[in-house]
Amino acid sequence: MLVVQKFGGTSVGTIDRIRNVAKRVAETKSKGNDVVVVVSAMAGETNRLIDLAKAIVKEPDPRELDVLVSTGEQVSTALLSMTLVSMGLKARSLQNHQVRLVTDSTFANAHIKRIDAQKLTSVLKEGAIAIVAGFQGIDEQGNITTLGRGGSDTTAVAIAAAMKPHIKDGLVCEIYTDVDGVYTADPNIVSDARKLKQISYEEMFELASSGTKVLQTRSVLYGMKFGIPIHVRSSFNDTEGTMVTNETLDMESVVVTGISHDKNEAKITVLHVHDKPGIAHSIFAPLAEAEIVVDMIIQSASTEGHTDMSFTVPRGDYKRAIHILQDLVKQKKAAWVVGDEKIAKVSVVGVGMRTHSGVAAKMFKALASAGVNIQMISTSEIKISVVVNEKDMKKAVDVLHKEFELGNE
Ligand code: ADP
Ligand code: ASP
Ligand code: MG
Repeated sequence: MLVVQKFGGTSVGTIDRIRNVAKRVAETKSKGNDVVVVVSAMAGETNRLIDLAKAIVKEPDPRELDVLVSTGEQVSTALLSMTLVSMGLKARSLQNHQVRLVTDSTFANAHIKRIDAQKLTSVLKEGAIAIVAGFQGIDEQGNITTLGRGGSDTTAVAIAAAMKPHIKDGLVCEIYTDVDGVYTADPNIVSDARKLKQISYEEMFELASSGTKVLQTRSVLYGMKFGIPIHVRSSFNDTEGTMVTNETLDMESVVVTGISHDKNEAKITVLHVHDKPGIAHSIFAPLAEAEIVVDMIIQSASTEGHTDMSFTVPRGDYKRAIHILQDLVKQKKAAWVVGDEKIAKVSVVGVGMRTHSGVAAKMFKALASAGVNIQMISTSEIKISVVVNEKDMKKAVDVLHKEFELGNE
């Protein structure tokens, strides 16, 4: 069996913890498995490197920033490989150019195009453990790229997917982190959050894309597309974690599976725009051109030929977005642009919403009774999201967790 094991920053945060990881890897290997390990940078390292760059210039050159931040993962591969070798095992550290993990050239948020399974297969054939640097890739021109924050999850699942056609006796992708699995809400903010035994790819995707960072969103998409079983579990104990798998029939009997929160967005409102064809395009086209991803969009009812348009953008892009939209005011296409960075998005997710009605009503009632004002609402087939004031976020998550009876019995 092929076991791909990914260890996050906290799990490789100190030499002692790297020893602990090595023990687990050695044990997996001793059971007769082939093992590919994917490592993150040591805890705090990626942030430290970004801060170094920002001490030089506010917006570092994207190509050079990727060269810099990719080094964190390289350090971890070497340290883990050394540890395994010192224990008498065969191990080989591998960087992006060696596994030929080829991406497009979108620095800081590159998409994987292909991975050369040949290299990994030959390392495994020698009986060695492959230790791959997570997060990093290489573009067609040979530039170093990175896959976005939390990208090592995607490296691991994408490697499992690339190896799948070459594996005869099964494979699993294990994501080792600092919590015991995927919970009904972030266990670091909701004290009675409950660990889920399993969750469907689709639910995990909705949770991840609305703020649950235990898995990077793109890793879930890879898992879903290539049918890779993902086991999220703790690197500090042997407790079974959470399996992310295809949806099963009994999953629909649960209406709400989990609650996510996201403080990384900001709200913008463009006020008093002419309500006529093409206006939405004139607002969103320049943002798209600047590669700013727009999320929830609400257009208010038209009065006397004018309307207001509200939407959210990633908080890191907020100032840029406001600046771009000022042009609309200059061109007299809108009266003014206002925004709020202190918002949070709270979402409830569950495949059961497809067959059960009344979830939205229940959600809004619970928020109202807690005195939480809803600023924006958006829905998809299995998710309802609301934007609230950032200071109400924890209260909103808590009250919804209770309302949908997600806690430990
Ligand atoms: P790693 O460094 O191992 O990649 P991350 O910090 O990226 O770990 O992800 C793990 C964190 O995700 C946990 O510490 C937890 O605070 C957070 N998290 C948020 N929502 C959830 C959830 N529903 N279940 C589990 N963890 C969650
Ligand atoms: N080291 C990178 C980060 O901190 C990638 C990862 O840990 O997955 O985002
Ligand atoms: Mg992570």
